Amino acid sequence: MAPRSWPGVIEHYKRLLPVGDDTPRITLLEGNTPLIPSEHCHRRLGEGVRLFFKYEGVNPTCSFKDRGMTMAVSKAVEEGAQCTICASTGNTSAAAAAYSARAGIRSVVLIPDGYVALGKLAQALAYGARTIAVDGDFDDCLTLVREISDDYPVALVNSLNPYRIQGQKTAAFEVCDVLGGPPEFHALPVGNAGNITSYWLGYCEYKEQGVTDRLPHMLGFQAAGAAPIVTGERVDKPETIATAIRIGNPARWQEASAALAESDGRIEAVTDDEIVQAYRELSGEEGIFCEPASAASYAGLKKLAAEGFFAGRRCTVVATLTGHGLKDPDRAVATAPEPEKAPNDIDAVVGMLGLG
Ligand SMILES: *Cc1c(COP(=O)(O)O)cnc(C)c1O
Repeated sequence: MAPRSWPGVIEHYKRLLPVGDDTPRITLLEGNTPLIPSEHCHRRLGEGVRLFFKYEGVNPTCSFKDRGMTMAVSKAVEEGAQCTICASTGNTSAAAAAYSARAGIRSVVLIPDGYVALGKLAQALAYGARTIAVDGDFDDCLTLVREISDDYPVALVNSLNPYRIQGQKTAAFEVCDVLGGPPEFHALPVGNAGNITSYWLGYCEYKEQGVTDRLPHMLGFQAAGAAPIVTGERVDKPETIATAIRIGNPARWQEASAALAESDGRIEAVTDDEIVQAYRELSGEEGIFCEPASAASYAGLKKLAAEGFFAGRRCTVVATLTGHGLKDPDRAVATAPEPEKAPNDIDAVVGMLGLG
């Protein structure tokens, strides 16, 4: 008998996705990512908080974008596309390039010059995307690809693509499948706000289907230098070290606002210092290496806890860690102490370690 392995999110959740038997499955077996219980960091949130990390960094291209991209590229191929195009802060382009390669079609990615983390740039190039670094920010890149895909035969696979949301909602299904129901709170970093929109859709659909009987409160966190939804005003020059959420005019702003209102949730800003602190705690204390933007979810939970938000509550909280730490090796090295140097000598090393 053939071993039964995970078939990827489309095949596993096909009953709840807009696919038919004839829709090609362009998959790298994404999804089924671990929901890791916190061993240490949960203590900062309060006595009654059960904290889990939905670690999306172990997807095939090392971010949650694979969930949406398997859908977007499969539907593009079903519709006859020969080429995909996207604007990206890095992870969308990595996923678009990988899934397009898998499908045997071409891909074009537009990235903001100088603002894409090294690992993500390496991925787009390795997967063979036509990679164009634009002298502008993400929002400028998005404007360009929107206009190009309107006028030319290339399939837009940005977060405006409705199939991305459909694919990404499977993460909420997985959380419910593992916990036996939704958590009380679900925390996410927010950039274009596609992911918070997707999780909310997933939680609502599971409830409508009768799989679950309640809904979580959605907690969104933006970087302080790129927090348009928090302030209610678009940001013309967004700035943050968390490049994956360096977005001034989110594509899914309205949907995210609706999710926050309907779930009786919260959206807050966290500073770059708070993000880096959270990022270092996650790797150093939990052994979970995520990228800076991902740590905004846990940084935000710490901020709410400091305001007494969780005081006296018994609740389950899930924080999505959206991407892998190796995506941004420069940031990892820059925020940690330098490696120590030693001569090739046992006494010297033993002495340094205080063992002698
Ligand atoms: C895309 C991305 C985000 C932001 O998700 P949105 O859907 O744009 O809100 C956060 N973290 C990582 C690692 C990402 O790649």
